[in-house]
Amino acid sequence: MSLIRGQESAKRGLEIAAAGGHNIALYGPPGTGKTMLAKAFQGILPPLSDEEVIEVTSIHSIARTLGNDVIVAPPFRAPHHTASYASIVGGGAFPRPGEITLSHRGVLFLDEFPEFNSSVIDALREPLEEKRITIARARGSVTFPAHCILVIAMNPCPCGYGDDRCTCSAARRGQYLRKISGPFIDRIDVWVAVSKIDYDEFGVESGRGETSETMAMRVEKARSLQYHRCREHDVKEKCNSELGVAELEKVIPLSPALSSFFSATAERLGLSGRGYHRTLKIGRTIADLDGKEEVGKTHILEALQYRQKII
Ligand SMILES: [Zn+2]
Repeated sequence: MSLIRGQESAKRGLEIAAAGGHNIALYGPPGTGKTMLAKAFQGILPPLSDEEVIEVTSIHSIARTLGNDVIVAPPFRAPHHTASYASIVGGGAFPRPGEITLSHRGVLFLDEFPEFNSSVIDALREPLEEKRITIARARGSVTFPAHCILVIAMNPCPCGYGDDRCTCSAARRGQYLRKISGPFIDRIDVWVAVSKIDYDEFGVESGRGETSETMAMRVEKARSLQYHRCREHDVKEKCNSELGVAELEKVIPLSPALSSFFSATAERLGLSGRGYHRTLKIGRTIADLDGKEEVGKTHILEALQYRQKII
């Protein structure tokens, strides 16, 4: 992360995503470093637990992606948008895990997201929710784990500009935007714009940014607060992003004042029920990074900044 100059708001978004296990989208014109940021994301995730090491290593040994190595870091998988359906979802006569399973306990990165085939995008929707994928075969079905954080990167429109310089036809633009709407895209919690770098920011004197290690330490601390809170409320240990609607009231109670402020704001912004819950979970993650026991107004206000604004 320290090698990527600037892009502080994108880095903040990635830190929140890592801390709460939230799926994240990076959008902006080509050449702004979206891919580099996504790759650096892996480095701020907590290391795998002993149990996860066994899980992930077994998957990769079935898939024969490694020799006899034991995998101790969260995997990072970045299939190309031309990759086959079976290679991403999984399949074959003797079903093999696809990229969604190979990224279990790690990161699935879909660069140039709108270029992916619609059938692949549709097939990934359920596993993102269920954290596992079932591949149906004539002689029975196979279920593989698929618990990952999804990172997508995309241009604002096919030509890349997305502003008044845009040369895309209305039809092409419409087709592109349809790809990034609907139920799949609704699973993405955090949206961050990655903009062109202002080089004046980086004089010779300007030091390097924060290292991945520093960010990873904050992420790990925020994770342990989440697990601790779950245990306190008799909920299975999980990240904020994974809390169900019923669990939210128990695990993330809001003060009456904050609750009425948030409801009024949500109404004014036209947030859906899902949008409300999503914002609440992100707000909780921000408060965890802040080391705060209670979610405050500033946490909710920051969380609201990460909703999707490009369509
Ligand atoms: Zn365009």
